[in-house]
Amino acid sequence: MHSADSAAGELLIEGAVVLPSAAGEPIADAAVLVNDGVVTALGDAGELVAAHPQARRAGGPGMLVMPGLVNAHQHAEGVSTFQMGFVDEPFEPWMALMHALPSVDAYLTTLYKSMLMLTSGVTTHVHSHFPAKHGYGDDPAGGYLAELEGAVSAHRESGLRTALAPYWRDRASFVYDDDARFIDSLPDDLSGPARALVDGPRIPNSVYIDAITELHRRLAGDEMIGVQLSIAAPQWASDELVDAVGEAAAALRIGVHLHALESRRQLAWGDDVHAGNELRRLADRGVLGDRTAIAHGVYLRDADIDLMAERGAMVAHNCSSNLRLACGIAPVRRLVARGVTVGLGSDDMTLDDDDDMLSEVRAAHITQRVWEGPEPLLDARDILRMTWEGGARIAGREGEVGRLEPGYRADAVVLDLDAMRGVYASPAVPVHDLVVARARRRHVRQVLVGGRVLAQDGRPLHVDMDALGAEVAASADAAVRAVDPARVELLQRLRPWMLRYPPAY
Ligand SMILES: [Zn+2]
Repeated sequence: MHSADSAAGELLIEGAVVLPSAAGEPIADAAVLVNDGVVTALGDAGELVAAHPQARRAGGPGMLVMPGLVNAHQHAEGVSTFQMGFVDEPFEPWMALMHALPSVDAYLTTLYKSMLMLTSGVTTHVHSHFPAKHGYGDDPAGGYLAELEGAVSAHRESGLRTALAPYWRDRASFVYDDDARFIDSLPDDLSGPARALVDGPRIPNSVYIDAITELHRRLAGDEMIGVQLSIAAPQWASDELVDAVGEAAAALRIGVHLHALESRRQLAWGDDVHAGNELRRLADRGVLGDRTAIAHGVYLRDADIDLMAERGAMVAHNCSSNLRLACGIAPVRRLVARGVTVGLGSDDMTLDDDDDMLSEVRAAHITQRVWEGPEPLLDARDILRMTWEGGARIAGREGEVGRLEPGYRADAVVLDLDAMRGVYASPAVPVHDLVVARARRRHVRQVLVGGRVLAQDGRPLHVDMDALGAEVAASADAAVRAVDPARVELLQRLRPWMLRYPPAY
């Protein structure tokens, strides 16, 4: 097989089959011609090779060439919550212990996670970045901006296209109500320790807005990395934070990425506190427009879907995560039927806990069949359209990535077609279906971003995974050992109180 490791000049990516897009037909014995990282032609391999004899070569015989995948929602946890000791549970019981989740070194875990994504064919992603749990000492503004710059440098080294969407929350640390009211509801022996967990000066929201504004300025014109705003979720954002994000999104003209309606309890919170209008509240405050994506949306009401369609807002669907945390199945068929753009995200929670985006595509395809509703089933092309073009729009790269057609970036995955077919596959099996039904990380032979081969035969070419893995493991182990057992015990004692407070949600 050919390989190429620089983006400059002409490149031909050849395959037994080229699948240019979700809508396009597969082309046999074809090649993608790339010039300086951008696709310039698509056609017969023999003719293109004869016309461009000096071009570098990638792909090869027996290969399937298709657009790179977009992971529309992930949190850069190179070591999963499960690996860190938090086994899956339903969403709220699981979240109740997240105050005890140890922080692995951000640079290491971000880069490692990006390499897990890359080797499963992901070339663009949205990183919903969690702020450090340890805080930022005397200089929150400087500390936070430095942390974001650290994430940017990990993404720069990864070589993936990145929409960095730092997550910010300013309320409801324990339950979906204000901390003070929850703490007041606790017995005396728990209220003091619970208060101590959230005591201390809160970092003002202006630190967040200023940091995003500054990062946006520093990344102006950057081809690989962009920044988006975020509120963590409607229940985790005060009116003040929603307003500040709405104003900044309008001023900077950038996307907003948030979680919403992930669990049944969150639905109950929205019904009780906002009469079912928590998304309308966002829309009225400038946080639900055509550059806004919500992750999850499992419990979107019909009126919410209509509102999102009207505003052009999008959904990052996290199928496996919703299954693992017992949230349910998102109304993806209804979203698609009403014209809402949907992308697919791994949420660091794929079914096999391995961040294989190809498996996530399959999980989404299978699961929507089980969801009950009159809307038509989605076929393999529909699911690939979400993965490629839906994700591209959520990442702010519509028309730039998600297809291998002239004018698009040469972000491509080269898969071993014979290995995917197994011992036998009828010629009648459509290629789109073959990818959705059978492709997985072990079939990925090459991954290219902007015409540069970044991964070959399952390994990144530009990052030493053995050395990086050893550093990640050491950091994770140190973080786990540093956890205060008293903190874990306190959260376990608080958890039943969280789960029964208040009765409605
Ligand atoms: Zn998430």
